[in-house]
Amino acid sequence: MRIAVIGGAGRMGLSNCEAILEAADTELAGAVEGAGHPAIGSDIGRLLGRDPLAIAVTADLEAVLADADVAIDFTTPAASAAHASIAARIGRPLVIGTTGLGATESATVAAASHKIAVVQAANMSRGVTLLQALVRQVAAALDEDFDVEIVEMHHNRKVDAPSGTALALGEAAAIGRGVDLETAARRARDGLTGPRQAGTIGFAVLRGGDVVGDHSVIFAGAGERIELSHRASDRQVFSRGAVAAARWVTRQAPGLYSMEDVLGLRSGG
Ligand code: NAD
Repeated sequence: MRIAVIGGAGRMGLSNCEAILEAADTELAGAVEGAGHPAIGSDIGRLLGRDPLAIAVTADLEAVLADADVAIDFTTPAASAAHASIAARIGRPLVIGTTGLGATESATVAAASHKIAVVQAANMSRGVTLLQALVRQVAAALDEDFDVEIVEMHHNRKVDAPSGTALALGEAAAIGRGVDLETAARRARDGLTGPRQAGTIGFAVLRGGDVVGDHSVIFAGAGERIELSHRASDRQVFSRGAVAAARWVTRQAPGLYSMEDVLGLRSGG
């Protein structure tokens, strides 16, 4: 299976290229960067600290897609939306790991998924996908006597907050409770906030160092507390998940899928 990597010279892009090269059944079809990126023209093997692979980073997404079975995109919200439209036009399935998409960008991805199969997930790790299912289950079992708080920490170069994973965990808790996350979420607290409002879902964000991604969901009741945590120490967990999603998505009908679909957890809620 030939897989194209979009955002190929980024932190996750390089990790995705590595995962494709390491798996026995996948080939790197090409690495795409935005026009003007300094890595364009460089050999992707060299960028990975390997021997040259005779694959130069290019800005020509259409040519790379034409020669690939599927693409993995970890770029920016605007770029991922544009890439979904191009993949739909060319007819290649897509795996999107980019986080922080707004309503318009999400609508563009949803429109593309009428023509191609798309897996979109804020976190491609198996552990976090399972965590989401667990959070949904725990939230469904507990009532509003348990306050839900979500804490995340990432490296100091992350640009969106709370993380897409934290928001997805919040969504899982909201679904479990049967409430709307937009209404229940408290994304920041500062100053004289007053006491905590029952039923809300709080978020706390930490940034620093090279933390790959830590998430905890805390259910705090009177006299007891349940904490469900996941810590990623290596970007390869996301990349291996993205490659698994790429294998899976090539066999699907057009539609918008999640990692829970890829791992067969959809009905296990
Ligand atoms: P990064 O800035 O290191 O990499 C992004 C890359 O995309 C850059 O190299 C950039 O030049 C490239 N890019 C931007 N516009 C482009 C375009 N139009 N065409 C081609 N390439 C383009 O960032 P990162 O740490 O690799 O994270 C990327 C995204 O992935 C973020 O949204 C992050 O939150 C998300 N992420 C998701 C998961 C997951 O499991 N789903 C895990 C980690 C990070």
